[in-house]
Amino acid sequence: MSSVAQSHLLPEVEAFLSRNHFPSFVGGKDFESRSGDTVSTFDPGSGDKLGDIHDLNATEVDLAVDIAAAAFPAWSQLPHEKRSAILLRLADAVEERKAIIAQIEALDAGKIEAQARGDVQNFVDTLRYFVKLSQQVETRTKLEVAGHEAWKYRQPWGVCAFIFPWNFPFLLIGWGISPALAAGNTVVIKPAEDTSLSALYLAHLAKEIGVPDGVINVVTGRGATTGAALSSNAKIKRMSFTGSPEVGRMVAETCGRNLVPVKLELGGKGAAVIFNDVDVTDTAEKLVGAITFHTGQVCCDATRWLIQQDIYDEFVSVCVDRLKNVRIGHPLDPKSQMGPVVNAKQCKRVLGYLDKGKAEGATCLLEGGPATVDGYTGNYVKPALLAGSLDNVAAREEIFGPVAFLTKFANEQEAIQMANNTDYGLANSVWTSDLTRAARVAEAMTAGNSWINAHNVFPHGVPYAGVNKSGMGGGVLSIETLMDYYRCTSVVRPLGT
Ligand code: NAD
Repeated sequence: MSSVAQSHLLPEVEAFLSRNHFPSFVGGKDFESRSGDTVSTFDPGSGDKLGDIHDLNATEVDLAVDIAAAAFPAWSQLPHEKRSAILLRLADAVEERKAIIAQIEALDAGKIEAQARGDVQNFVDTLRYFVKLSQQVETRTKLEVAGHEAWKYRQPWGVCAFIFPWNFPFLLIGWGISPALAAGNTVVIKPAEDTSLSALYLAHLAKEIGVPDGVINVVTGRGATTGAALSSNAKIKRMSFTGSPEVGRMVAETCGRNLVPVKLELGGKGAAVIFNDVDVTDTAEKLVGAITFHTGQVCCDATRWLIQQDIYDEFVSVCVDRLKNVRIGHPLDPKSQMGPVVNAKQCKRVLGYLDKGKAEGATCLLEGGPATVDGYTGNYVKPALLAGSLDNVAAREEIFGPVAFLTKFANEQEAIQMANNTDYGLANSVWTSDLTRAARVAEAMTAGNSWINAHNVFPHGVPYAGVNKSGMGGGVLSIETLMDYYRCTSVVRPLGT
């Protein structure tokens, strides 16, 4: 790591990283892989190794699920106010350690430090949101039915399993486990092998502030071993998977065989539909901000920019100008605006799509390619803009990097048809000063989420989920998510019996 990043490290982060060796955390203590198999984790901004995490096998994952199951009765039967108090203490502790967790996340995931701080705060807000919401849930709801006394009784399921990707490691843990824990379930978390450190820090912190042992467990390792073992464990009561459609399909197949309910939050190829009545500079700058945010490694990003033809040239010119001036640098360098991609494989993927897109006839509006950052040998790429037919591979497939594909449209109908010309269905945005048209287009685009005059908007209370190749089985961030973590029993007595 260069001196800029090194000089910036908090002593608590240095102490945490000095372990070099990171076992999983199960039942309130370190949980070692018996085989000794490990996976190395790196700082994507410098290429430096941060340490080794353990690669748990199926027997070890099964043991972790058993430990979470053993913790379930006591946790689920805790009076609600006591469980809430523990979880709110956890939210407070995470908030107090925000700077520490953000640095760990910035180093492990290659995330700009200020953005990582935002992710940690989002975790805190999400946990507080679901604890508060759970206090309003009636466990017994009386049903008015002629001739019968009847009610619905809600209770938590048991062990809920979570598999997470590497792009928003800490924030997504918050989105995933907060409703499950608030409802009284215990959880087993499998973070991505590239970015497990913040999950392990959280598990230790939970222990420190008094979350009972076995309630929050972290099993680390490769997808094909640890992830596959967790999703095929028949004792888990619910599975939540966030990641690629390819792996999501495998996880859903496995859970289907065990009849375990599964939620899938998958990839996307979102459109931004930009009409000619926008403030061109302001809109272009916001979309430049979206495509460079976390180096474009955002599932719901606007990666297809559909621009009304009469403002196309002006729009492109502002975007090219702003993107050329984005400061690429190490995540801990306060001057950096865009960090690296997560690993060498992802770097190759992004650069490969530029080549494939051009080979299929895309025009290059901004070249992109590998970027160099003085003093660091990380996985840096430049932002790129391609243009042309939406049949192009770079317009159809998820790239997961700072690359947008631009095309022109003539009218509203054509814009909607273009936006919907995708297998995905996660999030799109419409940009116009005509709010009636905005609402019409927002409702006509086939996706779980439509945003108006903004992109990447996640207020708590608004459901966020994908359709088609972008997901199934629910979503996150709303009352519906919380209700997913209760199972329901109908109780009925014919009157007079
Ligand atoms: P990935 O599918 O490769 O991996 C996700 C997780 O699955 C990792 O923890 C991995 O170890 C695990 N895994 C891999 N193989 C497995 C197997 N056979 N069985 C069980 N688990 C396995 O995804 P990624 O590359 O880490 O993340 C990028 C993808 O995630 C993109 O497609 C992105 O759009 C998507 N994503 C979606 C959302 C959303 O909310 N919809 C949020 C973030 C990321």
